[in-house]
Amino acid sequence: MEAGQIQSQPDTTARHRVGLEEGWWQERVPAWSRVDAATFHDHAWQLRNGVSRPSDLVPLVGDLVPDGFMDDLAAGLRIAPMCIRLTPYVLSLVDWTDPGPDPIRRQFVPLASEIEPDHPRCSLDALEEQRDSVLPGLVHRYPDKVLFLALQVCPVYCRFCTRSYAVGKDTGAVEKCSLGAGRDRWERTFEWIENHRGVEDVVVSGGDTWLLSSAMIRRIGERLLATAHVRRIRFASKGLAVLPQKILSDPEWLDVLAHLASEGRQRGVQVALHTHFNHPREITSVTRRAAQMLFERGIVVRNQSVLQRGVNDEPGCMTRLVRGLSRIQVQPYYVYVHDLVPGVECLRTSLAEALDLERAVRGQTAGFNTPTFVCDTIGGGGKRDAHSFEHYDRRLGIAVFRSPVVDPERPFFHFDPMRTLDRSVQAAWRCDRTQQEMIHSVLDQAGFGWSH
Ligand SMILES: *Cc1c(COP(=O)(O)O)cnc(C)c1O
Ligand code: SF4
Repeated sequence: MEAGQIQSQPDTTARHRVGLEEGWWQERVPAWSRVDAATFHDHAWQLRNGVSRPSDLVPLVGDLVPDGFMDDLAAGLRIAPMCIRLTPYVLSLVDWTDPGPDPIRRQFVPLASEIEPDHPRCSLDALEEQRDSVLPGLVHRYPDKVLFLALQVCPVYCRFCTRSYAVGKDTGAVEKCSLGAGRDRWERTFEWIENHRGVEDVVVSGGDTWLLSSAMIRRIGERLLATAHVRRIRFASKGLAVLPQKILSDPEWLDVLAHLASEGRQRGVQVALHTHFNHPREITSVTRRAAQMLFERGIVVRNQSVLQRGVNDEPGCMTRLVRGLSRIQVQPYYVYVHDLVPGVECLRTSLAEALDLERAVRGQTAGFNTPTFVCDTIGGGGKRDAHSFEHYDRRLGIAVFRSPVVDPERPFFHFDPMRTLDRSVQAAWRCDRTQQEMIHSVLDQAGFGWSH
């Protein structure tokens, strides 16, 4: 596709957009035909009416979905590492009459029929966050920044969550490590940060910080603002994408965030919100209102997307996402090449596909609103620019990266999905010996020799 044509491409989501006039949920979900706007846009109603079991879904969309869908979903849930949880808002963005290809369904609701075997190198916590944890839920991988996992719950659970080792409830497939919002654990975290003057940047994540009460957000924010060497604080939350009603209907929470941002500005500290939109259809009239309120209060918002096959891997779609975010003053910051996460091999793309997409998107809008495509490398090398591999063997589906800041001597990897490889290469991956040989040959090419 030629870049210039993207805007005039038929917009396959137009049908959905038209449906998203105020009150859309009443038509989409017959059970909500009497839910008025004041109710639907109340964040507490949204949380109280979350859907977390197939049996919750049946009365809402059971009559809309194709035959066999509910069985497919139940079977998918038995093998998935993530439980499901949807807000009514997210549920209402799905076209349940055709849920198979729906890009919103695909992100949050697993189907057994689409699951592919995991890559042989896939493991829970492939990024080795637990190895780099200095305390439970405090990851210190880069010299001047830390990742503080303040809680382990989210208003909506993503199938592809990198942190499926900790986030969400235990599932049939995974027992989670525990990182609750405990007072003592937080206190030890604050003390560790206070005692490490090199830490300038704190990412407060989880889980989703949208679920922290205003008192908790205030406690974390004020404590970090009182730590003189901390210059940047980010609250990570998918909330703007999955529960924007919080901004519209929880003024106390918004006030606390705005207060922290303004306190920060006075001290020369940036307090920002990092959010997570993956598809242009996730930007609705409600999102626009919420984003405008954040913008008026001077809160910097950046977006981190996860590249997913069948969701946002097509140039026109990614371009609409990037432009749509730019229009509401949310800065597209990163697009992550999908990590190796158990149970979601079907959502991964190859590195080559990510590079092609980047080429198509760059230049479509302002450079400062063009996301960097990054690969969070296997083995804990951290995020690397997707283009910066030492060597990439497309036939074998192996890319080798260096990460001098983490460890100048060690190689870090990305592995393409098996589906994208020739049959003979797939067979080689299934045998331990040939797998080792392939990895060693690529390490040689990348200049690492045989010592690894
Ligand atoms: C992503 C991440 C950060 C923040 O990295 P940026 O590239 O600055 O966004 C910090 N610590 C860990 C462990 C991370 O994974
Ligand atoms: S919102 Fe973030 S932490 Fe929660 S499940 Fe999704 S990716 Fe994981």
